[in-house]
Amino acid sequence: MLSRLRPSIGRSTSLSRTARGFATLMLAAAVAISSSVSAFAQGVPVVRDAEIEALVRDYARPIFKAAGLANDGIDIVLVNDPSFNAFVTGRRLFINTGALVTAETPNEIIGVIAHEAGHIAGGHQQKLRDQLDRAKTMAIIATLLGAGAIVAGATTSSKGLAGAGMGVAAGGGEMAQRSILAYQRTEEITADRSAITYLNATGQSGMGMLKTFGRFQSALSLAGTQVDPYRISHPMPQERIANLEVLVKQSPFVNVVDPPALQQRHDMMRIKIAAYMQGQAAVARLMRKNPTSLASRYGDAQQTYLYGNPGAALIKTAALIKEQPKNPYFHELRGDILMKANKPKDAADAYAKAVSLDPAHSGLLLVSLGQALMAVGTPDSLKQAVVQLNNGVGRDKENAEAYRFLAQAYGEQGDIPAADLATAEGHYYAGDYKNAKIFAMRAQQKLKRGEPRWVRAQDIINYTPSNKLK
Ligand SMILES: [Zn+2]
Repeated sequence: MLSRLRPSIGRSTSLSRTARGFATLMLAAAVAISSSVSAFAQGVPVVRDAEIEALVRDYARPIFKAAGLANDGIDIVLVNDPSFNAFVTGRRLFINTGALVTAETPNEIIGVIAHEAGHIAGGHQQKLRDQLDRAKTMAIIATLLGAGAIVAGATTSSKGLAGAGMGVAAGGGEMAQRSILAYQRTEEITADRSAITYLNATGQSGMGMLKTFGRFQSALSLAGTQVDPYRISHPMPQERIANLEVLVKQSPFVNVVDPPALQQRHDMMRIKIAAYMQGQAAVARLMRKNPTSLASRYGDAQQTYLYGNPGAALIKTAALIKEQPKNPYFHELRGDILMKANKPKDAADAYAKAVSLDPAHSGLLLVSLGQALMAVGTPDSLKQAVVQLNNGVGRDKENAEAYRFLAQAYGEQGDIPAADLATAEGHYYAGDYKNAKIFAMRAQQKLKRGEPRWVRAQDIINYTPSNKLK
């Protein structure tokens, strides 16, 4: 993401600090969720990153399988927020970067996912999940942010904030209100028991879950700390933690630790989030423990790319590639650096290598490749760019930004109806239905009635936003 994040990350980073304030502002205006989505979409704190999405999916897949849940392609949605939260709708797993960077081991995140899977398997909040599963990602984020603002208002006893929050809950219908309803204590016990079942079935320890929940439990008494939405929706009384501890310690897998290769990927993910979201001090803090580890050197290379010079970053990245030649994300970083150094041809080669090595087949790497090919700027590379960008959105339909690049590539080729339709798609997936319709109608004027692109444009024109939360 950090590559895809490249253009948007600055915006995302600044937003992370103001996300709650921004949400509050939206809420104070008492705007219904359906109409606030496009505003949120201007700066939705969703973070995209091929490496992190693949890792979290790898954490979730065995657990979902053990729980008998859909194991065919779970969408991972990374929310750029320093608080701890995770929520599964069914086909999408929302997780805050704050949760990922806090967890010292994969097992801590896997335990949280197992607990969430327990809620799904138990049918808890099923109606809400069904509503969310039909909603677009952007609408859900808006709702989650709204929920956070309500919580913040309540804990600071600010009548104004709490009142604004209730306004949005009403505006968003039952969904926003229900999303802040805590699970029942009996549901928590059920979910904990189910989580242990899934962890046992996959030969994993419950110690990470116990550590995470125990941390919430002890944080209850701390004044002035951030309110983690997760702790609000999952009540953690002392006896629940005590019961969980018994279950965890009964398991034959209690002492199992994460495989070293998985721990290494986790460490690299944490330092990446620190480098791109939190700044140099956070990276230094993570590096201190083991300055020569691969993760530390990865963080160092990323920092050099972000804050230093491309030449030095390339040397550090070359050393990483020498150590793990088949790590697609090292090649991706190399592509990012080469783009910054204005060497798009070399960058395209690096991204192509990353694509060929990526076991997760991320659409994001294809979009990076497409962007580099666009920057090369020859008619042939432009043609290839269109192919790769189309492959990218084919794997990643909701990637609004990718459609904007695609529109630009079609535009440079002189294919104006295709450019207009891609622009319409970009607005559509960003939740800006008004502009989506304008560009869809513009595309239709130049397309033959009834052909596939004309039909797709008609779908966008016919789309009614009020349907999306129902
Ligand atoms: Zn729970």
